[in-house]
Parts: sequence; structure tokens; C-alpha cells
Amino acid sequence: LADKLQGALQKLKSKGKLSEKDVKEAMREVKLALLEADVNFKVVKDFIDKVKDRAVGNEVLESLTPGQQVIKIVNEELTALMGTTQSKITFSSKPPTVIMLVGLQGAGKTTTGGKLGGYLKKSGKRPLLVAGDIYRPAAIKQLQVVGGQLDLPVFTLGDKVSPVHIAKAGVEHAVKHGNDLVIIDTAGRLHIDDHLMEELQNIKQEVKPHEILLVLDAMTGQDAVNVAEIFNEKLGIDGVILTKLDGDTRGGAALSVRAVTNKPIKFIGMGEKLNELEPFFPDRMASRILGMGDILSLIEKAQANFDEKKARELEKKIKTQEFTFDDFLDQLQQMKNMGPLSQLLEMIPGANSKQLKNLEVDEKELVHIEAIIKSMTKAERKNPSIINGSRRKRIALGSGTTVQKVNNLLKQFEQTKKMMKQFTDMEKGMKKGGKMK
Ligand code: GDP
Ligand code: MG
Repeated sequence: LADKLQGALQKLKSKGKLSEKDVKEAMREVKLALLEADVNFKVVKDFIDKVKDRAVGNEVLESLTPGQQVIKIVNEELTALMGTTQSKITFSSKPPTVIMLVGLQGAGKTTTGGKLGGYLKKSGKRPLLVAGDIYRPAAIKQLQVVGGQLDLPVFTLGDKVSPVHIAKAGVEHAVKHGNDLVIIDTAGRLHIDDHLMEELQNIKQEVKPHEILLVLDAMTGQDAVNVAEIFNEKLGIDGVILTKLDGDTRGGAALSVRAVTNKPIKFIGMGEKLNELEPFFPDRMASRILGMGDILSLIEKAQANFDEKKARELEKKIKTQEFTFDDFLDQLQQMKNMGPLSQLLEMIPGANSKQLKNLEVDEKELVHIEAIIKSMTKAERKNPSIINGSRRKRIALGSGTTVQKVNNLLKQFEQTKKMMKQFTDMEKGMKKGGKMK
């Protein structure tokens, strides 16, 4: 989604003066990008109408930087779509605060229950996890394992007692043991059914939770939004925790769920690990989706540094399988012209420090690679298959590396070449009208 939106808006940015037609054209592309990202169509329509209304107004078209203005409006409206400000958990003035997690099977309730407990424990809460899923095999055990890893107590009465009773007893247990926060894990189904809803309603009735949070799998896109609508209608929810956002490349659920249900996203799950839960900030998410500023400047930087003629030559070489170590070296040089890799990566929204650390290693690696290639003769660069054992030794000595490093590079080079060939073959196939399976 980010790519598409950036594409649509990049065109505007480079224009000096915008006509109403420019704006409409860009909005058509934005609309398509949103629909493709599985954003609810009604949400898309409202969104586009709002942006258009504001963007076609005089102050934008007459301003000095109309393209930027439109991007700013899109950013603001995306943020508004997701609720504008961060929505926190409301804690009861009379502890314990009771949070009930609901959702379909596999959405991430049990994992998220642990994550949320761990997260709130860090801010000084004393959470108790309550095992309310008595149906899924090993669900109780799963919660106990999660609780154990986070050093959180888990309350269970086994799987022979009704979840309503377990929830009630869990809250009583918390009162007795000084836990000021109760997180109730509940059962899910593959699809919404009346029996499940009834059970959840009964738990709600019995323990009167302060927060009912719906756990939704972001990767299910529009389906997640439909699920949210039904849960909100039948049970009433206070907010959403959107999981598996780490695997969601489209962003459809994140963008639509608030607009459709009028309930805020409170947290997002960003991975399987138990510390990978983050509070949700609409403005940050909007920036990430839009890749505001930083991404745009990154693209500009890349365009300015990559010599277009060379790029085209390279493409031809790859297609004709003539890609040599000299070309490889050329590529490395071009990359270096763009500045340190780590700095480039920092500009990418969402890039984390873990990745940055890996990259530093890679940069050192690049120096080695360069040295190795430079120690090859012209003939060797052109035709790596002649590099036998004694040549390898010579190259290793000349580059101040090891034979093993030389071997690795040769292997990598062959793999890269093979991969490039696959890509170009695939491209050919697609141009012929074939489809990727
Ligand atoms: P439940 O049936 O709703 O209780 O779901 P679980 O808590 O058992 O989670 C189902 C699967 O989703 C597990 O394999 C989790 O590790 C995984 N999962 C949960 N949250 C996330 C997340 O934010 N990112 C990723 N990648 N996986 C997640
Ligand atoms: Mg579960």
C-alpha cells in the first residue's frame, strides 16, 4: 500500500502548480491503492471525498507547494481515519481492572493476553491471567507457558468448569491476592456462532469487565473488519488489538476497523515474541503507510545516484546472462555513492535497530567483497569458472581475506546470477500473459 500511495503522490509533489484535474487523477490512484489494500469500500469513498473537498479548495491550488499540501491532507485524513489520538486502557478507580479478550480462534488472544500482561506489568501493574478457554486442547497449558515466560500468575480451574464460573473465580482470586489487573483469555471459534456469543455475553454479565478488547488478525483484512462489526453489535467492545501486523503488507484492517466500528485500535501485535506488542498511534501508522518525507527523500536520493544508463546496461546484461564480477563491483560502487547503508536504512520508517545492527556487519562484508573482486584478474572477473584452487588462494592473499571468504563470494555470485535468471524468466512469462501461481 505504501508503495502505491507514494507513487500516486510523488507525481503531485514534483508539480509546480496543480489543476483540479491533477488532484482528481491522483485521488483516483489513491482510491485504487486503498481498495487494493482491502480497505472497506465505504471507508475509501468517504475518505476520498473528504480529501478531494479539501484538496480542490483554493488555498491548496493557489499555494506555492500544492503537491506537498495534498500529501499533508492525505496524511491528516489517514490519521483521522484511525482515530487521531492514542487510545489507552482505562483503569478502574476500584481495582482490579478487568480486561476480557475476545475473538476468533487463532487471532492471537492467548498470546496477546500474555503480551498485554507483560507490557502492563512494566508500568507497575500486577496482572493475573485467567484461563477461560476450556475447549481448545492445551489452551490452558499454552497460557501457563506464556505466563511462566513472563513471570505472570495464571489462574485456572481446569477444563471441567464453566468459563463463566472461571472468570468470576479469577476476579475473586485477584482481589484476594492483590492483583490489580485481571486479563481473561476466552475461547474462540473458527467462525462466529451463537453459542460462542452467548458464552461471552454470560461472562460479560457476570464479571462486568472494564474493557472488552477484540483481538483481530490483521492479515485477514476485510474479514477482520466484518468480525469486528459483529462482535461490536452482539457483545459490545471497547477497543481492538490488531495482531500480526508484522505480516500484513496491505494495511486494510488497520485503516478500516475504526471507521466501521467507531472503536479504537489500542494495541498492535508486531511479532510472535512476547515483547512484540506496541501501543497504537494513528499518526505514526499514517506516516508509516504513507512513508511520509523520509521514504520520498530516500527515493529521490536513490534516483539521483543511480546512473540510469548504467542501470539499463545492467538489465541487458542480466537478461543475456553476461553479468560479471566487474558489473557486481560497479553495483557496489553505486550503492556506496548513496551513502552509508545504515544511514539509508534509518530513513525507512519502521526499520528497527536490530536490522541496523545486522547491516553494519554487512557493510564490513562489502569492503571484503570489494577487495576480493579487485584481486581478481580481468579474465577471472569475466569468467569465474576458471577460478581454481590455486587462484582462490592467490585471491585470498591479495585481498587480505581467506579462501573461505573467496569461496563464499563465488557461491553467492552464482546464486545471485541464478536468481536473476529466474526473475527475468518469470518476467518473460508474465509478459507473455501467463500468471504467477
Ligand atoms: P488464539 O487462538 O486467539 O488464542 O491465538 P493464539 O494466541 O494461540 O495465537 C495464534 C498464533 O498467532 C500463534 O502462533 C501466535 O504465535 C501467533 N501470533 C499472535 N500474535 C502475533 C503477532 O502479532 N505476530 C505474529 N507474527 N504472530 C502472532
Ligand atoms: Mg487461545
